[in-house]
Amino acid sequence: MRRALELALQGCGRVSPNPLVGCVIAKGGRIIAGGFHGKFGGPHAEADALGKAGAEAAGADAYVTLEPCVRFEGKKTPSCAEAVVKAGVKRVFVAVRDPNPNVAGKGIELLKQAGVEVVEGICEDDAGEANKFFFKFVRTKRPYVILKMAVSLDGKIWSPETSSISNPQFAGMVQKLRNDCDAILVGSGTVITDNPRLTCRMPQGRDPLRAIVDCNLESPVNSKVFNDANCAVFCLRNADGNKRKALEKRGIRIIETEAGEDGDRLNLERVFATLGEMKITSVLVEGGRKIASSVVREGLYDECVLAIAPKILGEGTPAFESGVEIGFGNASVQTVGDNAVFTIRKR
Ligand SMILES: [Zn+2]
Repeated sequence: MRRALELALQGCGRVSPNPLVGCVIAKGGRIIAGGFHGKFGGPHAEADALGKAGAEAAGADAYVTLEPCVRFEGKKTPSCAEAVVKAGVKRVFVAVRDPNPNVAGKGIELLKQAGVEVVEGICEDDAGEANKFFFKFVRTKRPYVILKMAVSLDGKIWSPETSSISNPQFAGMVQKLRNDCDAILVGSGTVITDNPRLTCRMPQGRDPLRAIVDCNLESPVNSKVFNDANCAVFCLRNADGNKRKALEKRGIRIIETEAGEDGDRLNLERVFATLGEMKITSVLVEGGRKIASSVVREGLYDECVLAIAPKILGEGTPAFESGVEIGFGNASVQTVGDNAVFTIRKR
């Protein structure tokens, strides 16, 4: 199952809104074949592994990181539970059930009905962690939200003298997060101040959708985030009409959203709900201060990845607005170069 999980993770950033799945076929204590779901619309892990195993799959054991799927309306690929039965697999080890209501136990039921022995719950926690984006998305129709921040020892995220607070190793971690997440979200302040590209610079990396929260469409049309149409801008209804036309001409989606309770901001809950409707299963929030503060204040994050760098900035922008605090209830810390990187789970 550990091998199957390793294989599953190879699909990171490529299969959304599907889950990551790995499958290993073994016989007599020896691995015959392994497979994974590598691309949305491509073969499922079981089909990939069974294809490689061929006739050897008869009488073998299969280890799958997620309950094999069944047929349902609108489904594009054949059912894996049926494929497993057809191949003559004797026993199936399943890490975790698929919470998708179309599957949810039906895959396991189909296998048992066909006389296949099923063992559940192998490496269940790790399998749930591997599919945390998918699980949150199918259960709530909202993306999994990761708030990423790099903060100095005195709690600042920006100063006129410092171009970068965190170190190159943490920057590498961020590139991996960009590759894995379906979207990056920033506020117009970040676009105007930093003019970032918000692409994934990892080798063979995949660019996420760039989601920009820009209430009054203040970001310049020639900003780098508007370089291509892989971008959506959330704004208020009465936002600048000319700017809107200019952006739409470039193929950029403009999404009108209601204001939040405090008037001058967007309702971020609605923004995440809309991203969910767009089948975005995960969002990396990269700032700035206003967005980060709202996300924490409204409890909209699932995870905060916080790098603390050994720097004192003195003058500069504090990470959060006053009164905003982030709980450290369930946190782990790792050393990344000379930064301490905290991963804080909301629940
Ligand atoms: Zn399947």
